[in-house]
Amino acid sequence: MDAGADPGGIGVLDLQGGVQEHLDHLRRVGVATRPVKRAADLAGLAGLIIPGGESTCLSRLLTIFGLDAAIRQAYDQGLKLWGTCAGAILLARESVGETPFLGLIDIAVSRNAFGSQLDSFNREALAPAVAREPIPLTFIRAPKIVRAGERVRVLLRLDDYIAAAEDDRILVTVFHPELTPSLAFHRYFARKCGLSVVGDDDAGLDPDWTPLSWTRFSSHA
Ligand code: GLN
Repeated sequence: MDAGADPGGIGVLDLQGGVQEHLDHLRRVGVATRPVKRAADLAGLAGLIIPGGESTCLSRLLTIFGLDAAIRQAYDQGLKLWGTCAGAILLARESVGETPFLGLIDIAVSRNAFGSQLDSFNREALAPAVAREPIPLTFIRAPKIVRAGERVRVLLRLDDYIAAAEDDRILVTVFHPELTPSLAFHRYFARKCGLSVVGDDDAGLDPDWTPLSWTRFSSHA
């Protein structure tokens, strides 16, 4: 989709981390999308995904490019936000032992709470507000959400932590739906943004998805 071609779509912050996978999932659910590298790219968007990656790196790049202020301003004007993993860390009002960054949703996160990169894992769980069937979840050196404020709804609680939550304008997930065949969270966020989607709300599994679908190997064959 060309930049600016469809105002009202969902942008994906394109500084570092899992950008292409989110763009692909949004296209699979029939939503107009584009990468967001500069403040001007935010114009007309209904929503923005801040992807997973490395939150310290992302926060520095956001500051360097002046995108932190631009995102705050767009949020004040109605932009909906979804942070996956590092993105959730950047959106949290409180980060245990660290200085919060955007601080826009009333949650506390604990970074790297499962251990090192080698402690990354997959599991499945039912998030009834999001899909009727259990959803595959991929956790990559994930944070835990350890507190949710009064206005925050918990969408998925697992063991001793919250894995997905939202308030009226922000969605946070500590796992990576874009790295699984499930489109359910992308549909959920698109609806939160007031956009229509294709497909329905079972586990949202895309039969054509493969773990390598984002690599574009075929175009270099
Ligand atoms: N461990 C990363 C951080 O603290 C987050 C990892 C991820 O986004 N998958 O920023």
